[in-house]
Amino acid sequence: MAFVEKSGNRIYLSPPHMGSEERELLLDAFDSNWIAPLGPHVDAFEVEMAKEVGVKHAAALSSGTAGLHLALKLCGVGAGDRVLVPSMTFAATANAVRYVGAEPVFVDCETQTWNMDHSLVAEELERTSKTGELPAAIITVDLYGQCSNYTAIEPLCERYGIPLIEDAAEALGASWEGRSAGSFGRFAVLSFNGNKIITTSGGGMLLSNDGAAIVHARKLATQARDPATHYQHSELGYNYRMSNLLAALGRGQLKALPDRVAARTTNFRFYEEHLAPVEGVTMMPIDERGTPNHWLTCIVLDPHSSPTSPEDVCHQLETQDIEARPLWKPMHMQPLYSGTRMLGGSVCEHLFANGMCLPSGSSMTDADRERVLAAFLGTR
Ligand SMILES: *Cc1c(COP(=O)(O)O)cnc(C)c1O
Repeated sequence: MAFVEKSGNRIYLSPPHMGSEERELLLDAFDSNWIAPLGPHVDAFEVEMAKEVGVKHAAALSSGTAGLHLALKLCGVGAGDRVLVPSMTFAATANAVRYVGAEPVFVDCETQTWNMDHSLVAEELERTSKTGELPAAIITVDLYGQCSNYTAIEPLCERYGIPLIEDAAEALGASWEGRSAGSFGRFAVLSFNGNKIITTSGGGMLLSNDGAAIVHARKLATQARDPATHYQHSELGYNYRMSNLLAALGRGQLKALPDRVAARTTNFRFYEEHLAPVEGVTMMPIDERGTPNHWLTCIVLDPHSSPTSPEDVCHQLETQDIEARPLWKPMHMQPLYSGTRMLGGSVCEHLFANGMCLPSGSSMTDADRERVLAAFLGTR
């Protein structure tokens, strides 16, 4: 039995996709009365995820955002610091920088992967190394399930001694030059939010080869209780741990990851086959050095040869009960971050103006894909 989310005939952008294994594990957690946060499924989920990604240690958390917050804290980033962040991302990446009192410096994306442009990073590091204003950390985002160019970014971070944090929230199951998303940087962060490739309804994970840092992360995530029978605290903690019930769900989801990546790759190939030949439509570029998980299939519409803007296309699809979305609105264009420093900007502004995400759920059927295709072609 499969528990595929269907609500009438609506095709969602990226709905949860549950299987029978998840149900059994969830019931096991329920029946064992491990309802309190923490428990055997949390421990097992951490071990299994660390192994999957090829990293030594992991801490299961209440969200990916919590993971970003803890990663920045553990890198010692604080008030007055600057952190390089790609402008083209979900707000959580930049917000975490503000949580620790630091300021993001936004970076444009490169055309090859839509991820942070390493040449702009290189220029900024070169310049700030001379003025003593080097950033305190760099956060890369593996956008829409494609890894950043770590071949270029890792050596830059090493050269200037800047900690790298990988926001792999969208990229579990992807890889770059044979290494898994979630294994780059001093810390990497995963999200299991409802729209991600695997989900615990809400949740996240912090990964690192630094065992002491992960032990510290678990402590910070449980209100930073000191080892004492009475309640004692000597540093500021948070309530950021994942519950045992949700970890049970996550373990079942993780087993299905290869299938989920395969299904989303099928979506991508289908759209590519039928849309790449269409005049004025360009697929999101895929760099051959990586293997994306194809979390979302994204396209760009050439404004000169496309009769309809991405926003209008989304509205028209909506009338047929099909959910599509524009690309992330760049952070430097957000009211919240107005006035923030931005390196470059024309690439992500162009993508935002002309790009969109197509329905990409792993439970899509052939008929669903055909329906989206027909609806999309009907807008032209
Ligand atoms: C979803 C997402 C997050 C946040 O994850 P949550 O688990 O929802 O807190 C962070 N960064 C990116 C790029 C995301 O897509």
